[in-house]
Amino acid sequence: NGVLLEVRDLSVDYYAVNGIVHAVKEVSFELRRGEILGLAGESGCGKSTLAYAISRLLRPPAYITGGQVLYHPRKPEKREATSHIVAVSDLSSGQSAHNGTAAASPLPSPETIDVLRLSPAQLRAFRWNEMAIVFQSAMNALNPVMTIGTQIMDVLKTHCPEMSTAQRKERAAELLKLVGIAPDRLRSYPHELSGGMRQRAVIAIALALTPELIIMDEPTTALDVVVQREILDLISSLCREFSTALIFITHDLSLLLELADTIAVMYAGKMVEKASSREFYAHPRHPYSYGLLNSFPKLHGPIRRMAGIPGSPPDLRSVPAGCAFHPRCPFAWQPCQRLEPQLLPSTAETPRQLVACHLYDAHQRPEGPPSSAEF
Ligand code: SF4
Ligand code: MG
Repeated sequence: NGVLLEVRDLSVDYYAVNGIVHAVKEVSFELRRGEILGLAGESGCGKSTLAYAISRLLRPPAYITGGQVLYHPRKPEKREATSHIVAVSDLSSGQSAHNGTAAASPLPSPETIDVLRLSPAQLRAFRWNEMAIVFQSAMNALNPVMTIGTQIMDVLKTHCPEMSTAQRKERAAELLKLVGIAPDRLRSYPHELSGGMRQRAVIAIALALTPELIIMDEPTTALDVVVQREILDLISSLCREFSTALIFITHDLSLLLELADTIAVMYAGKMVEKASSREFYAHPRHPYSYGLLNSFPKLHGPIRRMAGIPGSPPDLRSVPAGCAFHPRCPFAWQPCQRLEPQLLPSTAETPRQLVACHLYDAHQRPEGPPSSAEF
């Protein structure tokens, strides 16, 4: 399974009245096709900002100050074979079906798309065909004065002008069925649906053009626990079915352990740990990850000790020197206050589990990494 998205040294600053806020600092990661990446951290750690930056939705006073977002689209032949639902027009060839509309224009390169350099018109094509975004409030994502059916069909109309009205209607009903909503709901207005159904409808719209990547920012936070559970199951089964890659953002790490293939933890604008869910759960490496994991009761099984993390995240205008976590870290010692730890393989045995902490750095800690008994 190849790499779909590469984020390289991405940085975002907010130019606030009372200072510059480094909201995202040199974040790098790769996402494979079909991979579910869970992005966790307390609120204000930069995870939403990172999502906005990747999807080019940042608005002033927030600016991308460095880095790259590279996207590798599927080969045209492959797209043909795997677009189960609707024939997605060939974005890499010049003769796109979008030519007739003002909304979208063909994407530039068949090999790699430099997302931060797309023109506004290319971006519109990219957003629905390749990347879809689902944000926290389904109520805000939906137009209150249009029926669900009209909203789905509008997306299809803009991006697949070759479809007839009857085909669009059929496809809209199919999409609703896919997310577990009865097709007669096409005629419903958002306020006639429950919160869970609205979130399902938003997911249906996101899936309309079978994107390769969906980014979801706290999509279930406003829902009660049972509905949240149902929506998560739906999201994970749809992503598996269509091998859609997913970046799922939440402050609730316990949700991610069941949903995600990979977990990345952010703190004060930086990625401080990244590992497979299995490795992460078996042995979180970063003291902050360890604290997060223990501060949430598990959904299933015995409730673990809720240790929590004393203190609160730093004000991003004045992040502590060295490791930003050091004022809250029970393991901090001299180098932590001076040197910023880099995201590196944690141990020789777990080269794919990356961590930014001096405890795992042989130069800083000559006696080697701590044993789990130390935690
Ligand atoms: Fe704690 Fe030091 Fe590791 Fe930061 S680098 S998490 S302060 S031990
Ligand atoms: Mg947020």
